[in-house]
Amino acid sequence: MPELPEVETVRRGLSQLTLNHEITGGDVLLERTIAYPFSVGDFIDGIKGYAIATWHRRGKYLLAELSQSPPASSSTSWLGVHLRMTGQLLWLHRDEPLHKHTRVRLFFGDRQELRFVDQRTFGQIWWVPPSVAVESIITGLAKLAVDPFSPEFTVEYLAIKLQNRRRPIKTALLDQSVVAGLGNIYADEALFKSGILPETLCTDLQLKQIERLRTAIIQVLQASIEAGGTTFSNFLNVQGVNGNYGGVAWVYNRAGEPCRVCSTLIQRTRLAGRSSHFCPQCQTLRGVGS
Ligand SMILES: [Zn+2]
Repeated sequence: MPELPEVETVRRGLSQLTLNHEITGGDVLLERTIAYPFSVGDFIDGIKGYAIATWHRRGKYLLAELSQSPPASSSTSWLGVHLRMTGQLLWLHRDEPLHKHTRVRLFFGDRQELRFVDQRTFGQIWWVPPSVAVESIITGLAKLAVDPFSPEFTVEYLAIKLQNRRRPIKTALLDQSVVAGLGNIYADEALFKSGILPETLCTDLQLKQIERLRTAIIQVLQASIEAGGTTFSNFLNVQGVNGNYGGVAWVYNRAGEPCRVCSTLIQRTRLAGRSSHFCPQCQTLRGVGS
């Protein structure tokens, strides 16, 4: 599943390639990919004539600010995309043969297209008309916690979100109302880097452990973004190239392999239905140094 670094990698690619080309039309091959408007015809008619001015990311949502030329005061609208499990956005020449999992095509000018390919079909696309609040249409945005890269993601914020919760820290990190955009891979990596075992209860964490955890979350996400997103069997950037973070993971998907720090074998457990990878030597319930 794409996590924050992959979505950020996609956002950066889209920002380099797709801006300021007029959207001339589109083709919806799977109607339920379009979450709003409810009519596919309204979706195509709505986005036609706009160009993408900027791409934003909030959590794992991609949001394109659309503008018309010449700009009219009420003409800004939004295109939202959530990749979910297997969604991919590809910037292609319109003549490229259609992949069988192609769900939506957006045509830019007369030659290019932004193609949404999604094997598992959980991905969603929204068009938010002018003068309508984005959160009223893409309701998941309203529930999102702060982004790990925003200035609001402070130690105090994280401590408040974790206090009074008798649940494992790993489970809390996957909760999108605690931190936006963190998933299984980076939760495991950040817990390794901060020396905390995944099953440690939030209520047992000391403030200095939370401080280390906050720093580790930012560091692992930043490292992955710089490497172009994790290697997933199905993650491709907008030009169809694989990321490469998987080669340098500390613990994720390395069960049975030696820890890169202490050579103890990495272990895997299941926690809240997800696999967790950890080093039993480097990670403790109390955290290293506390
Ligand atoms: Zn170790």
